[in-house]
Amino acid sequence: MKITRVEAIPFSIPTRRPFAFSGGAVHHAEHVLIRVHTDEGLVGQAEAAPRAVMSGETQATVVAVAGGWLEGACVGADPVRVEDIHARLRPLAGNHTARAALDIALHDVVGQAYGVPCSVLLGAYTDRVPVSHMVGFASPEESAEEAADLRARYGVSAFKLKVGVGADHDLATCAAVRAAVGPDALLYADANHGYRADEALQVLPRMAEWNIAWVEEPCPAEDRVGRSRIVDQLGIPVAGDESCRSLAEVASEVMDGRCRMVSVKTARSGYLTSRKIVALCEALGATPVCGSQLEGAIGAVAQAAFAASHEATARFPAELTGFLAYADDVIAEPPVIANGEMTVSGRPGLGITIDEGKLAHYRCD
Ligand code: MG
Repeated sequence: MKITRVEAIPFSIPTRRPFAFSGGAVHHAEHVLIRVHTDEGLVGQAEAAPRAVMSGETQATVVAVAGGWLEGACVGADPVRVEDIHARLRPLAGNHTARAALDIALHDVVGQAYGVPCSVLLGAYTDRVPVSHMVGFASPEESAEEAADLRARYGVSAFKLKVGVGADHDLATCAAVRAAVGPDALLYADANHGYRADEALQVLPRMAEWNIAWVEEPCPAEDRVGRSRIVDQLGIPVAGDESCRSLAEVASEVMDGRCRMVSVKTARSGYLTSRKIVALCEALGATPVCGSQLEGAIGAVAQAAFAASHEATARFPAELTGFLAYADDVIAEPPVIANGEMTVSGRPGLGITIDEGKLAHYRCD
């Protein structure tokens, strides 16, 4: 089998309401559907969800890179030989989101070619994973209402609170959400670099009162000295996200003691590199947690398959509700969340079908 074409289709779908966090806000899914075409008729698909504030990538750069440089490096290669294709991509630096989507689309082809779901291809630990919901910036009352609604409708009992606005707002949000979802829910926080290190050391210890289980990126990712101080002084575990994008970064952050948990995002590191990151976490005694870039339903399906594949990632709730933030989607059958869990597809590859009518409606090229 040979790759004949890599297609990059940009589409834009509005959010139900803007999703805000420290450092930015998402108003539209300005995402890209990546399609890997083969000479045997199999087509692998994946969603690229670029976040300029995190990787410098935009919808336009993903389209240009995936449909240009990446396609040029891949055409003629056997899509089953994923490591060989990664070796062909090595001369291009950066572009993590475009690369990750290509990698997942390749795995979709591999799964289809061998007749197995991606979750089985990657490890087959389980067929369902607990789900966590990210609560974006809003008033404490709105955040509490949103969390309670997710719990009532989908049985979700794990919530990531976006903080980093300021002490009063953030502590009030922790208090309001804890009161709304009860003492048994898992709550953790993500400051997205919103505090300076000194400020983080003032605010974060007070979150222990509402049993915040861990805090992600408490201060700017480049402030490694500050993060060391926070880890040393804070009783709550620190998780790395933007400071842990690559295998090398995970190794240095964990080994140097700047985090004990690592947010693993297949939207950022694809399947192949994410698997290596999980293995590295296991070797170093760090905890991997499946994070989200607020990808749509295709990305949620891909992330759920990964989370279910490994014992280490299935242990903690995976952030899989990003697709609920959008007013619509291009997938024919959105994933289902029930009793706080998402069940992975039993169909070969990712098992997704695109609603071509909706894709035609939302595509923006
Ligand atoms: Mg984060």
